Amino acid sequence: MVNDKKHRIRIPLYAKILLGMGLGIGFGFLAIALHGEGFVHDWVAPFGTIFMRLLKLIAVPLVLVSLILGVVNLKDIRNLSRIGLKTIVIYVCTTIIAVSIGLAMVSAIKPGKLFPKDKQTEFVERYRQTVSAREADMQQVQEQSPLQFVVDMVPENLFQALGDNSKMLQIIFFALLFGVALIVVGPSKTPSIVRCVQQLNLVLLKIIDFIMAFAPIGVFALMAALIVDYSGDAGIFSALGLYALTVMLALAVVIFLVYPLIMRCFGGRTLKRFCHAVFPVQLMAFSTSSSAATLPLTMERTQKHLGVSDEVSSFVLPVGVTINMDGTSCYQAVAAVFLAQVLGLDLSFGQMLLILATATISSIGTPGIPGGSIVMLMIVLDSVGIPIEGLALILGIDRPLDMVRTMVNVTGDMTVACVVDKGNKEKSAGHEA
Ligand code: ASP
Repeated sequence: MVNDKKHRIRIPLYAKILLGMGLGIGFGFLAIALHGEGFVHDWVAPFGTIFMRLLKLIAVPLVLVSLILGVVNLKDIRNLSRIGLKTIVIYVCTTIIAVSIGLAMVSAIKPGKLFPKDKQTEFVERYRQTVSAREADMQQVQEQSPLQFVVDMVPENLFQALGDNSKMLQIIFFALLFGVALIVVGPSKTPSIVRCVQQLNLVLLKIIDFIMAFAPIGVFALMAALIVDYSGDAGIFSALGLYALTVMLALAVVIFLVYPLIMRCFGGRTLKRFCHAVFPVQLMAFSTSSSAATLPLTMERTQKHLGVSDEVSSFVLPVGVTINMDGTSCYQAVAAVFLAQVLGLDLSFGQMLLILATATISSIGTPGIPGGSIVMLMIVLDSVGIPIEGLALILGIDRPLDMVRTMVNVTGDMTVACVVDKGNKEKSAGHEA
């Protein structure tokens, strides 16, 4: 028995998730072939939903606890403003790079020019209902003051914010406020609160371990359900192929060129080590389409496999999950220009710059949930006068693109965590010398 345990082969997490994904996709196609869509819907999909719920369940307490701990670990306000400012500047820079790549790619490939005019009206008609539902959200956003997004960051009731996963910015605000207050009061005067937060963090990490043990089954169920749900839309997949390819290409440049370059120059980790750490996180992001749901794994891999200090990772990652969305902003740029091309609108250089600005800002407010960027994309479209109806054309193939852009989002967060960590360690070493 003991021997048995010793010789048991440990399958790495990424392999288990990959296996779950592969089997899930295969099972989905098999179900379609055998007309077993109902079975997948009734008996398989719920496991995916349970997995997503577990991840969402842990997201809010994790952001709250790890961010408070992150701030307390920074020990003084000067450290906080230095690391905080640095993090935000790097996040904005990577977002601007990602949007620029999207704009360049879509302008060079011009996928919208290939779009048949008769298909265009057909698609708009087909999705008119979905779009009008989203339009109502958009109208609400438009009627607000330009500073509304700052106002929305401040919760009026902590418990309401905690009860709503889409209010992550409010939770971040409270966590920062609480952490700063703890530092100012002095952790020596509040040792039990600090210890309590540390211990809560340990317990949350253990819960994440439990959830991750369920990941292969959850991912299997999510993929099988996705294949069954999308089987009817094959026509749309092919009609919008070039657009999807453009998004994928732009995202591929960000993930295979920009991040490795940043990692090499400023990240202080070898590419091999980074790829090994990030791969399971990317698979999880791909399967869940949610960077918030992926956060537990992002944190674990960044700390354990990239050696990023707790003080940096517990600050940079929870903040990044909400405000750093390179994949999303890159996709928004491609989508906006693609729609302009389809509708025969020529965008000026100024309008391109406007897309750059709005895509960068709107990605900050995008929640890390599946399809989180759709309402925000409306703001980008509206800023340059592209009719929101056009969104109908791309909604049908949004999910697969969402899966890939979420992968980019989490990779960006981990890259920036390494960069900030390297700078921080160098600074500490400088102080010690
Ligand atoms: N699903 C993305 C995320 O969670 C957000 C989006 O682009 O819709 O990061």
